[in-house]
Amino acid sequence: MLSVETLTKTYKTGDRALSDVSFTVPKGQVVGLIGPSGAGKSTLIRCINRLVEPSAGAVRLNGADITRLSNTELRRARRRIGMIFQEYALVERLTVMENVLSGRLGYVGFWRSFLRRYPAKDVQMAYRLLDRVGLSAHVDKRADALSGGQRQRVGIARALEQEPELLLIDEPTASLDPRTSRQIMRLIVEICRESGLPAIINIHDVVLAQQFTDRIIGLQAGRVVFDGTPAQLTEDV
Ligand code: ADP
Ligand code: ADP
Repeated sequence: MLSVETLTKTYKTGDRALSDVSFTVPKGQVVGLIGPSGAGKSTLIRCINRLVEPSAGAVRLNGADITRLSNTELRRARRRIGMIFQEYALVERLTVMENVLSGRLGYVGFWRSFLRRYPAKDVQMAYRLLDRVGLSAHVDKRADALSGGQRQRVGIARALEQEPELLLIDEPTASLDPRTSRQIMRLIVEICRESGLPAIINIHDVVLAQQFTDRIIGLQAGRVVFDGTPAQLTEDV
């Protein structure tokens, strides 16, 4: 479970990007994070993976407060958070399989990729995940030979290979056509339900958010202005 408690962020410039933001996300729940540009969505995501240092408040992932970790502990904690990006962030010259394995091995994986040696159980897990995201037939293709939808499927498998306790997903469909966007959203939500992973999706497309997520949190000027089901959002607007 993820618990965000009275999280506040004021940047050095004086911009208050988040004010007293609180919510919890139980296992298996997919939250769509919506709000106009500048509302604080990216800052919230970055406070949770601690790319940004919060000014006050706590972020607990299954108990431990992520905002109070040393740098060594932080590296370990980051491995518990799977990230999926708008532009996929794949290594173009590596194969699909190698990209997925890099999720598990991180920096070490980069060097292993030259040696083509990976632990067998990691490879088995990667095969299973690639099958789950529908890429069994493309395991040995280079990342730069894939379509946008296929690239995002690799991004999803790579995040899962890390065996995360939380998924943070930044605009996963912003570079995809509408049909592929729906397929990717459906896949993410199915996987979270199956595996009990909580997820937060930063998503500007409100219709997609309403169609696929379990819950919508709306931010405006750094505050939570809506927190409810997709159906409740329709009634409110
Ligand atoms: P969103 O992702 O919803 O567009 P952001 O989190 O990027 O919102 O921004 C929230 C507010 O914080 C905005 O006013 C933005 O200008 C400000 N902000 C974001 N990043 C920084 C930064 N690195 N330094 C100073 N202000 C920032
Ligand atoms: P996004 O598209 O994710 O909302 P933005 O376009 O708001 O991102 O910001 C792009 C980058 O600029 C981010 O790294 C953000 O932290 C930074 N940034 C945004 N607003 C400001 C600001 N007012 N001062 C300094 N950096 C900012």
